[in-house]
Amino acid sequence: MQVASRPVLTRAAIVAAALTALLCLQPEPAQPVEPAAPGAGSTPRALVLSDQARRYLALQYRADPTEFLGCMIGELRGRSVVVWRIAPADVDPAHSTPTHVVAEQACEAAGWSPTIGMIHSHPDGERCWYYFPGTEVASSDGQAFARQPYAVDAIMCGEHIVWIGRDKAERQLSLVAAGQRAASAISNR
Ligand SMILES: [Zn+2]
Repeated sequence: MQVASRPVLTRAAIVAAALTALLCLQPEPAQPVEPAAPGAGSTPRALVLSDQARRYLALQYRADPTEFLGCMIGELRGRSVVVWRIAPADVDPAHSTPTHVVAEQACEAAGWSPTIGMIHSHPDGERCWYYFPGTEVASSDGQAFARQPYAVDAIMCGEHIVWIGRDKAERQLSLVAAGQRAASAISNR
């Protein structure tokens, strides 16, 4: 499936530059970010979440038995997607179920700029994929991403996030700190 490339990143970058007030609110990235290399291309290889974004996800996941939908506000830095914060998408509760969620309007229309992608949860932690495993058949989430203008999309899946860029490569990001992971590995023995 061919996805038309759209000038979203450029627009997002311009908006980012214009919104100096928002930049002042930008929290420190949770992890070091690679500096933007000239000509590094626009295919992100890493997703970096601020502390606010991690807290928001943990809270939403714990609190919400239905899918939540968030707007990832941030920017592309080199090959990293840096998420400053996650804002709630405009969702009618009637359109949020354990397996489905629909936004009433685009993130930008809801006041969240620059949005670099959307994130939703799978409360049961299952089927966190954009392509059915071992195939090139897009899942409903893969099809939804193809219709979106954003550079990336993400699924919150318990203790990790599955995310995808326009290169169609699925990547994972753990939400558990390395120390906690080691502790739980020990306790699981
Ligand atoms: Zn989904």
